[in-house]
Amino acid sequence: MSRQETTRGRKIVVNEIFGPTIQGEGPSMGRICSFVRLGGCNLTCTWCDTPYTWDWTGQSNEGTAYDPKAELHAMHVVDVADRLRAMDVRLVVISGGEPLQQQQTVTLLCHMLKESGVSVEIETNGTIAPSPALTATQARFNVSPKLRHSGMGPERTVVPVALRALNATGGAAFKFVCRGPADLEEVDAIVARHGLESVWIMPEGQDQETLTRHMSSLADAVVARRWNMSTRIHVQAWGNRRGV
Ligand code: SF4
Repeated sequence: MSRQETTRGRKIVVNEIFGPTIQGEGPSMGRICSFVRLGGCNLTCTWCDTPYTWDWTGQSNEGTAYDPKAELHAMHVVDVADRLRAMDVRLVVISGGEPLQQQQTVTLLCHMLKESGVSVEIETNGTIAPSPALTATQARFNVSPKLRHSGMGPERTVVPVALRALNATGGAAFKFVCRGPADLEEVDAIVARHGLESVWIMPEGQDQETLTRHMSSLADAVVARRWNMSTRIHVQAWGNRRGV
Protein backbone atom coordinates (compact mmCIF):
# COMPACT_ATOMS: atom_id res chain seq x y z
CA MET A 1 0.00 0.00 0.00
CA SER A 2 1.42 3.41 -0.93
CA ARG A 3 2.02 6.23 1.55
CA GLN A 4 -0.82 8.17 -0.05
CA GLU A 5 -3.22 5.26 0.52
CA THR A 6 -2.17 4.79 4.16
CA THR A 7 -2.51 8.50 4.90
CA ARG A 8 -5.58 9.27 2.79
CA GLY A 9 -7.77 9.58 5.87
CA ARG A 10 -5.56 12.08 7.69
CA LYS A 11 -6.85 15.63 7.87
CA ILE A 12 -5.13 18.96 8.45
CA VAL A 13 -6.82 22.20 9.51
CA VAL A 14 -6.29 24.75 6.74
CA ASN A 15 -7.17 28.43 6.63
CA GLU A 16 -6.25 29.07 2.99
CA ILE A 17 -4.23 27.74 0.07
CA PHE A 18 -2.97 30.22 -2.48
CA GLY A 19 -0.43 30.80 -5.22
CA PRO A 20 1.57 30.83 -7.24
CA THR A 21 2.94 33.85 -5.41
CA ILE A 22 6.23 35.18 -4.03
CA GLN A 23 7.83 34.20 -0.73
CA GLY A 24 7.76 37.70 0.78
CA GLU A 25 10.12 37.32 3.74
CA GLY A 26 13.36 35.80 4.99
CA PRO A 27 16.20 33.97 3.25
CA SER A 28 14.05 32.91 0.26
CA MET A 29 12.48 36.33 -0.20
CA GLY A 30 11.50 36.77 -3.84
CA ARG A 31 11.25 33.07 -4.75
CA ILE A 32 8.20 31.84 -6.63
CA CYS A 33 6.20 29.50 -4.38
CA SER A 34 2.78 28.34 -3.27
CA PHE A 35 1.38 28.82 0.23
CA VAL A 36 -0.74 26.83 2.61
CA ARG A 37 -1.83 28.75 5.68
CA LEU A 38 -2.86 26.49 8.56
CA GLY A 39 -5.42 27.38 11.22
CA GLY A 40 -4.83 27.95 14.93
CA CYS A 41 -2.05 29.58 16.92
CA ASN A 42 -0.74 29.16 20.47
CA LEU A 43 0.24 32.87 20.74
CA THR A 44 -1.77 36.12 20.60
CA CYS A 45 0.47 38.81 19.09
CA THR A 46 -1.28 42.19 19.23
CA TRP A 47 0.03 43.19 15.77
CA CYS A 48 -0.61 39.78 14.17
CA ASP A 49 -1.17 40.13 10.42
CA THR A 50 -3.15 36.89 10.19
CA PRO A 51 -5.58 37.11 13.13
CA TYR A 52 -8.20 35.34 11.00
CA THR A 53 -6.28 32.10 11.66
CA TRP A 54 -6.82 32.18 15.45
CA ASP A 55 -8.58 35.25 16.83
CA TRP A 56 -12.14 34.24 17.62
CA THR A 57 -12.65 36.93 20.33
CA GLY A 58 -11.11 40.11 18.89
CA GLN A 59 -7.90 40.11 20.98
CA SER A 60 -5.54 41.53 18.35
CA ASN A 61 -5.15 45.24 17.57
CA GLU A 62 -7.49 44.74 14.64
CA GLY A 63 -10.28 43.99 17.13
CA THR A 64 -12.20 41.66 14.81
CA ALA A 65 -13.64 38.43 16.19
CA TYR A 66 -13.33 35.98 13.29
CA ASP A 67 -15.62 33.00 12.84
CA PRO A 68 -13.72 29.69 13.07
CA LYS A 69 -16.48 27.97 11.07
CA ALA A 70 -15.75 30.30 8.16
CA GLU A 71 -11.95 30.36 8.54
CA LEU A 72 -10.97 26.77 9.34
CA HIS A 73 -11.31 23.87 6.91
CA ALA A 74 -10.40 20.26 7.77
CA MET A 75 -8.90 18.90 4.56
CA HIS A 76 -7.33 15.59 3.59
CA VAL A 77 -3.55 15.95 3.49
CA VAL A 78 -3.38 14.34 0.05
CA ASP A 79 -5.83 16.90 -1.32
CA VAL A 80 -3.76 19.75 0.13
CA ALA A 81 -0.62 18.28 -1.46
CA ASP A 82 -2.41 17.93 -4.80
CA ARG A 83 -3.61 21.56 -4.74
CA LEU A 84 -0.10 22.82 -3.97
CA ARG A 85 1.57 20.61 -6.60
CA ALA A 86 -0.94 21.75 -9.23
CA MET A 87 0.54 25.26 -9.02
CA ASP A 88 3.70 23.91 -10.67
CA VAL A 89 6.28 25.57 -8.42
CA ARG A 90 9.37 24.10 -6.70
CA LEU A 91 8.81 25.72 -3.28
CA VAL A 92 5.89 25.41 -0.86
CA VAL A 93 5.62 27.59 2.24
CA ILE A 94 3.64 26.15 5.15
CA SER A 95 2.56 29.06 7.32
CA GLY A 96 -0.11 29.92 9.86
CA GLY A 97 -1.15 30.48 12.50
CA GLU A 98 1.33 28.08 14.05
CA PRO A 99 1.93 25.05 11.80
CA LEU A 100 3.79 23.00 14.42
CA GLN A 101 0.56 22.64 16.39
CA GLN A 102 -0.29 20.09 13.68
CA GLN A 103 3.13 18.64 13.15
CA GLN A 104 2.09 15.02 12.58
CA THR A 105 0.03 15.96 9.55
CA VAL A 106 2.53 18.65 8.55
CA THR A 107 5.15 15.87 8.48
CA LEU A 108 2.97 13.82 6.11
CA LEU A 109 2.49 16.84 3.87
CA CYS A 110 6.24 17.51 3.80
CA HIS A 111 6.90 13.88 2.80
CA MET A 112 4.37 14.06 -0.03
CA LEU A 113 5.83 17.29 -1.37
CA LYS A 114 9.41 16.08 -1.05
CA GLU A 115 8.57 12.93 -3.04
CA SER A 116 7.48 15.27 -5.85
CA GLY A 117 10.76 17.18 -5.74
CA VAL A 118 9.21 20.21 -4.04
CA SER A 119 11.16 22.02 -1.29
CA VAL A 120 9.29 23.08 1.83
CA GLU A 121 9.74 25.98 4.23
CA ILE A 122 7.80 26.12 7.49
CA GLU A 123 7.08 29.46 9.16
CA THR A 124 6.94 28.96 12.93
CA ASN A 125 6.94 31.13 16.05
CA GLY A 126 9.60 28.91 17.65
CA THR A 127 7.64 27.78 20.72
CA ILE A 128 7.16 24.14 19.67
CA ALA A 129 10.07 21.76 19.09
CA PRO A 130 9.98 19.89 15.77
CA SER A 131 9.78 16.10 16.04
CA PRO A 132 12.64 13.99 14.65
CA ALA A 133 10.22 12.80 11.95
CA LEU A 134 9.50 16.35 10.81
CA THR A 135 13.19 17.31 10.91
CA ALA A 136 13.98 14.24 8.79
CA THR A 137 11.86 15.60 5.94
CA GLN A 138 14.56 18.29 5.48
CA ALA A 139 11.97 21.05 5.52
CA ARG A 140 13.59 24.36 6.33
CA PHE A 141 12.34 26.35 9.33
CA ASN A 142 11.87 30.11 9.29
CA VAL A 143 11.59 30.77 13.02
CA SER A 144 10.13 34.03 14.29
CA PRO A 145 10.44 34.30 18.10
CA LYS A 146 8.25 37.12 19.35
CA LEU A 147 9.57 40.11 21.32
CA ARG A 148 7.81 42.06 24.10
CA HIS A 149 6.12 44.42 21.63
CA SER A 150 3.95 41.41 20.65
CA GLY A 151 2.09 42.04 23.92
CA MET A 152 3.39 38.86 25.57
CA GLY A 153 6.33 38.22 27.88
CA PRO A 154 9.18 35.75 27.31
CA GLU A 155 7.51 33.19 29.57
CA ARG A 156 5.10 32.61 26.66
CA THR A 157 7.18 33.46 23.62
CA VAL A 158 10.64 32.06 24.38
CA VAL A 159 10.81 28.28 24.82
CA PRO A 160 14.48 27.30 25.15
CA VAL A 161 14.03 23.61 24.32
CA ALA A 162 12.19 24.51 21.11
CA LEU A 163 14.68 27.19 20.02
CA ARG A 164 17.61 24.84 20.59
CA ALA A 165 15.92 21.99 18.72
CA LEU A 166 15.17 24.26 15.76
CA ASN A 167 18.72 25.65 15.78
CA ALA A 168 20.10 22.09 15.84
CA THR A 169 18.34 21.23 12.58
CA GLY A 170 21.04 23.26 10.83
CA GLY A 171 18.48 24.64 8.39
CA ALA A 172 16.73 27.22 10.54
CA ALA A 173 16.73 30.98 10.00
CA PHE A 174 15.72 33.04 13.05
CA LYS A 175 13.69 36.00 11.79
CA PHE A 176 12.89 38.64 14.41
CA VAL A 177 10.19 41.23 13.76
CA CYS A 178 11.50 44.60 15.02
CA ARG A 179 10.34 48.20 15.13
CA GLY A 180 13.58 49.98 16.04
CA PRO A 181 17.10 49.63 17.46
CA ALA A 182 15.86 49.17 21.04
CA ASP A 183 14.30 45.86 19.98
CA LEU A 184 17.71 44.61 18.87
CA GLU A 185 18.94 44.52 22.47
CA GLU A 186 16.18 42.02 23.24
CA VAL A 187 17.26 40.03 20.17
CA ASP A 188 20.91 40.19 21.32
CA ALA A 189 19.96 38.51 24.59
CA ILE A 190 17.93 35.71 22.94
CA VAL A 191 20.58 35.02 20.30
CA ALA A 192 23.38 34.87 22.89
CA ARG A 193 21.46 32.80 25.43
CA HIS A 194 20.38 30.14 22.93
CA GLY A 195 23.35 30.19 20.53
CA LEU A 196 21.19 31.00 17.49
CA GLU A 197 23.19 30.91 14.27
CA SER A 198 21.34 32.43 11.31
CA VAL A 199 19.79 35.73 12.45
CA TRP A 200 17.49 37.84 10.28
CA ILE A 201 15.84 41.12 11.22
CA MET A 202 12.58 42.09 9.54
CA PRO A 203 10.73 45.41 10.05
CA GLU A 204 7.23 45.21 11.50
CA GLY A 205 4.56 46.81 9.34
CA GLN A 206 1.53 46.08 7.20
CA ASP A 207 1.96 49.03 4.84
CA GLN A 208 4.88 50.33 2.83
CA GLU A 209 5.37 53.57 4.79
CA THR A 210 5.63 51.75 8.14
CA LEU A 211 7.94 49.08 6.73
CA THR A 212 10.29 51.69 5.24
CA ARG A 213 10.37 53.76 8.43
CA HIS A 214 11.19 50.73 10.60
CA MET A 215 13.71 49.37 8.07
CA SER A 216 15.58 52.70 7.96
CA SER A 217 15.80 52.89 11.73
CA LEU A 218 17.17 49.32 11.98
CA ALA A 219 19.60 48.95 9.08
CA ASP A 220 22.81 50.43 10.54
CA ALA A 221 22.48 48.55 13.83
CA VAL A 222 21.79 45.26 12.01
CA VAL A 223 24.82 45.64 9.76
CA ALA A 224 26.99 46.48 12.78
CA ARG A 225 25.98 43.13 14.30
CA ARG A 226 26.73 41.26 11.01
CA TRP A 227 23.15 39.99 10.87
CA ASN A 228 20.88 39.68 7.83
CA MET A 229 17.87 41.81 6.89
CA SER A 230 14.61 41.05 5.17
CA THR A 231 11.75 43.27 4.19
CA ARG A 232 8.21 42.05 3.33
CA ILE A 233 7.93 42.29 -0.43
CA HIS A 234 4.39 40.88 -0.56
CA VAL A 235 3.29 43.94 1.45
CA GLN A 236 5.15 46.22 -0.97
CA ALA A 237 3.55 44.45 -3.94
CA TRP A 238 0.01 43.86 -2.70
CA GLY A 239 -0.45 45.75 0.58
CA ASN A 240 -2.33 43.84 3.27
CA ARG A 241 -4.50 41.82 0.87
CA ARG A 242 -5.32 38.25 1.83
CA GLY A 243 -4.47 35.26 -0.35
CA VAL A 244 -1.45 36.64 -2.22
FE1 SF4 B 1 -0.03 35.80 14.61
FE2 SF4 B 1 2.26 34.51 14.21
FE3 SF4 B 1 1.84 35.79 16.53
FE4 SF4 B 1 0.48 33.54 15.95
S1 SF4 B 1 2.71 33.76 16.29
S2 SF4 B 1 -0.40 35.41 16.82
S3 SF4 B 1 0.18 33.77 13.72
S4 SF4 B 1 2.03 36.72 14.50
